[in-house]
Amino acid sequence: MTEDLTIYISGLYSGTNPQPGIGIARSIRLAYPDAKIIGVEYSNRCSGIHWHDFDDIWLQRPWQEINLDSHGEEIGKILDSGAMWISSIDLEIIWLADVFPLGHRNLLTPPKAGLSRIGKPAIPAFTGLPVKIPTFVTTEISDWELHAFCREHDWKVWLKGPYYEAVRTSTWAEFEHYRRVMANAWHTDKLFLQSHKTGYEESVMLSAYQGELLDCVYMRKRDLTEKSKTWAGDVADVPKEIIIPLRQIIRELKWSGGAELEMVRDAKDDLWLLECNPRFPAWVHGATITGRNLPGLLVEGASGIPSQDSPSQGDEFTRVVLEVPVNPEFPLPPLPEPYGGAIGHSLKHPSGLLQFAGRLHKTETQLAAKTNGSCTKPISGRNVIPQTFLNDLSGVDISGLQTPASIFFESTAAEYFTNAAKLSGSLSGPDLKVINAYSIKTNPDERLLKIALESGFLAEAISLHEVHKALSVGFKPEQVILNGPTKWWRRETLPADRFYSVFCDSVEELEQVIEEVNSGRVTTEFLGVRLRTPNIVSRFGIPIDSPDVFERLIEAIGKMPRSCKFGVHFHMASSNVGVGNWGHLFESMLRWCSSIEALTGRIIQCLDVGGGWFPDDMQRDSGSEYKKAINRISEVLPNVRVIIAEPGKAMAQPSMALAMQILEIRQAEGKAREVIMDGSIAELPMHFVHPHRILCRDEEMDTWKSLERGKSVLFGRLCMEHDIVASDVELPSNAKVGDVLVFCDAGAYDRSMSYVFGCG
Ligand SMILES: *Cc1c(COP(=O)(O)O)cnc(C)c1O
Repeated sequence: MTEDLTIYISGLYSGTNPQPGIGIARSIRLAYPDAKIIGVEYSNRCSGIHWHDFDDIWLQRPWQEINLDSHGEEIGKILDSGAMWISSIDLEIIWLADVFPLGHRNLLTPPKAGLSRIGKPAIPAFTGLPVKIPTFVTTEISDWELHAFCREHDWKVWLKGPYYEAVRTSTWAEFEHYRRVMANAWHTDKLFLQSHKTGYEESVMLSAYQGELLDCVYMRKRDLTEKSKTWAGDVADVPKEIIIPLRQIIRELKWSGGAELEMVRDAKDDLWLLECNPRFPAWVHGATITGRNLPGLLVEGASGIPSQDSPSQGDEFTRVVLEVPVNPEFPLPPLPEPYGGAIGHSLKHPSGLLQFAGRLHKTETQLAAKTNGSCTKPISGRNVIPQTFLNDLSGVDISGLQTPASIFFESTAAEYFTNAAKLSGSLSGPDLKVINAYSIKTNPDERLLKIALESGFLAEAISLHEVHKALSVGFKPEQVILNGPTKWWRRETLPADRFYSVFCDSVEELEQVIEEVNSGRVTTEFLGVRLRTPNIVSRFGIPIDSPDVFERLIEAIGKMPRSCKFGVHFHMASSNVGVGNWGHLFESMLRWCSSIEALTGRIIQCLDVGGGWFPDDMQRDSGSEYKKAINRISEVLPNVRVIIAEPGKAMAQPSMALAMQILEIRQAEGKAREVIMDGSIAELPMHFVHPHRILCRDEEMDTWKSLERGKSVLFGRLCMEHDIVASDVELPSNAKVGDVLVFCDAGAYDRSMSYVFGCG
């Protein structure tokens, strides 16, 4: 009877990120030695077509060329003839669910309703399992919010496509790049950004037929490929607390076919569900050789024909690489053209899966349009613009500007400084002063320095040039903090007065300054050290994790004159390392400080926690995180009397904008609009570090509005390939040459690090 069994298996790609087809065929061959197994492929480049377990290969045209209707009909005939179909291609599974809305007893893939409930990343079907879903957002929200999500999750985030494919993006530039690549590849803007979970990777693989769970196994990855795919693993029983709800879920989903739940177990032993794949995983045969033949059970469940036992050969498996003879029917094709700019394997899959995604997406939008009576709404992604920006802009004579021009947002600047001063003031008490020091280098504009002075800020200088700038706007030396490794550059200009604080960047510098304080050449209220952050790479400060340097530091602190109070400083930009990482670092710094106090017998009276905050982060949740951090200092270091924060960009970034004019608009049919601006990345050097909210005039409403997300590209005026000031934005359809666009959030390093270029 088993010789009557015919089973079609699709998805035979067999590279380092393989499809499961070969594994499924091997497992079924063990269960049914006489079955007829037919491999289905859409490219003769998939090496799996040469695998010896296939009795025949059904080679189809690539996905971009195939006639989907007649292919669907052919499959229908195959199923009606009694043969079974196991798909291991996600997109084919999605498509088949559409072709067979009522399912088919011989189609061993899940039904449409079930599929729709395992969508990434929420995976709603599995809410009954003892697993959590890592936090995620849709990329349809504004860039401003997406950047905040990345900071909040320490830039450990994954950009995920709608079907599959996920890329780790650890910078804003990477995120922007891959968002474009993926959106183009999958023909959709609906991507997800999900926080990364660190831990051990584990999976549940299952086999089900018409809602009945036939079997499932647990697998822990024990070795990985460079793309984090399974290379070796161990197989065990699925724990009861998963099996019981799983059985119920599979029933509700009326699931047929294989499936894999991909999870991560973190250090706290929590399980996080990352994906649910609607098919067997590629390591399926690894479980079969431990005695759990899930594809065999699936065929048994569907056919009623008992399968042969697959004896256990151990409970661990690993992969090897094998050479097999090429099937003479399918001689090797010539080498493929090199393919650049792709990510992941499915994007360069030889069978044209990408184009297939495009075709699927088109049908889906047509369907949606039919059922809604309208087209699906385009994504706005519009940034929210603070009212103070608009107030400040209303006072600017835009037509009188010589663009590109920097615009000062005075009331915005005043608000940010005032709020920071208020927050610190609210934390100060009789025994504790919490103050801010404006980082001059971030933007040394006199207008900002004046507001800082009026708001009760100190000035933080990294050179004597900066000290003199501060003095020139009215700061007194006793309101100046000296920091960084080059504070003694142009030493001859050092003022004779007493500074607020001097933080030494090395033990060598500390020893030198102690000498100078002793001889009266330098006077300062606080004398301290900058500590180099352990674990996070930095070139600044004293490397306390190096035992001999630490010993020398302790010795040098012991020699500090009693006339100076002792302070400690550290600085690491939370905007780069993320808010959570900054918190860990802060905790570890407090502990180092506590050890330094214990070892030197000198109390720390001043702690300077540096700057590096993104404007929104310091005031986040009404400053509650910031308040918590300050309170923590008093707990661990009770002798601290002064806490200093050194915000630079948190104050300066929103305080200026850059106005540019449109020089030319280019429009080719079916292509994105290309716009040439008179500004450039020379005036916007932070263009790749964080988003800039861009405003254009809305003449009708007599106001400014934020550009939406879209397909226009704004090129700078420089004759440089990479001079792109914005992409993924939509220029309003009525925009014309001569219109001015205002790039906000350009008041920090965009301003101070801008350079003159291409101006003769
Ligand atoms: C640059 C700098 C700051 C300010 O950093 P921002 O990222 O602009 O907030 C603060 N402290 C020190 C010592 C600095 O060098």
